Amino acid sequence: MKIVVGHKNPDTDTICSSIVMAYFMDAKPGRQGELNPETKYVLEKFGVPEPELITSAEGHEIIMVDHTEESQALDDFDKGEVITIIDHHKNGMITSKPIIHLTKPVGATATIIAELYFNNSLGFIGAKNKELTPKMAGLLLSAILSDTVLFNSPTTTEQDRVMAYKLADAAGIDDIEAFGKELLKAKSTIVKESPEKIVQYDFKEFNMNGNKIGIGQVEVVDAADLEQKEKEIVDILKRKVVDENYRMIVFAITDVLKKGSKVLVLGNSEDFEKAFNIKLENGAAFMEGVMSRKKQLVPPLEEFYKNA
Ligand code: MG
Ligand code: MG
Ligand code: MG
Repeated sequence: MKIVVGHKNPDTDTICSSIVMAYFMDAKPGRQGELNPETKYVLEKFGVPEPELITSAEGHEIIMVDHTEESQALDDFDKGEVITIIDHHKNGMITSKPIIHLTKPVGATATIIAELYFNNSLGFIGAKNKELTPKMAGLLLSAILSDTVLFNSPTTTEQDRVMAYKLADAAGIDDIEAFGKELLKAKSTIVKESPEKIVQYDFKEFNMNGNKIGIGQVEVVDAADLEQKEKEIVDILKRKVVDENYRMIVFAITDVLKKGSKVLVLGNSEDFEKAFNIKLENGAAFMEGVMSRKKQLVPPLEEFYKNA
């Protein structure tokens, strides 16, 4: 059985890209973990069921979307056969066999899938050129708006905008702005969840030159909404560093309106200070303009550990 699966602690791009690629490949979409409130909202809005929870790759052909990092893949991914990767992150995976590996530095994996569809190129990666239904278009549009934070993230490219407008047309959504605001509203309900869930929703693990680094992110419309939970979040992260053997954990509270992130740094926080040439106060700092983990947090840390 062919399974399309995104990263652990799934986000809207991972889930929507999995569902749409599964549709084009006559495969089954899977999810690794619980959906966040924004993704739940999107699936309800377009009347698409949640993908099944997948915990093992054994006996499956795996199409990985929205990740290329072993620590974010199925734990036993080597028991299955990874046949395809479609992603917009840095290359963090080595397979023993040649595979179809399509990476493009755009704002969302959904943008790549939309480009394949609109350019009649799905056949190039072994998928079928089926018709894009309004539901499927709606999912891809949601994924682009979510990953680019309504085109505000520095990861946003011209292709993301072009594809979003084509998808909106196909989905019958004529006001992208208004729809994007609905998504933001759904996303912001995350602050009402327990501190444990807030930490886990968008937490990613990286292997940086042998160092286990965790980077979590929560996007909020108003960072003040999260202030009362910050101390508990820090306590959870402190425990996580010790219990799970992290060298360092960075947790970014990204204020999508102020366009910046408050970072909380636990573990060997002096690594962070050196990598970013920044002084932390009580393990925290506000970083103006920082919205993207992939583009603004991961690269300086990779660079630091490469030379450390
Ligand atoms: Mg993602
Ligand atoms: Mg993505
Ligand atoms: Mg993200």
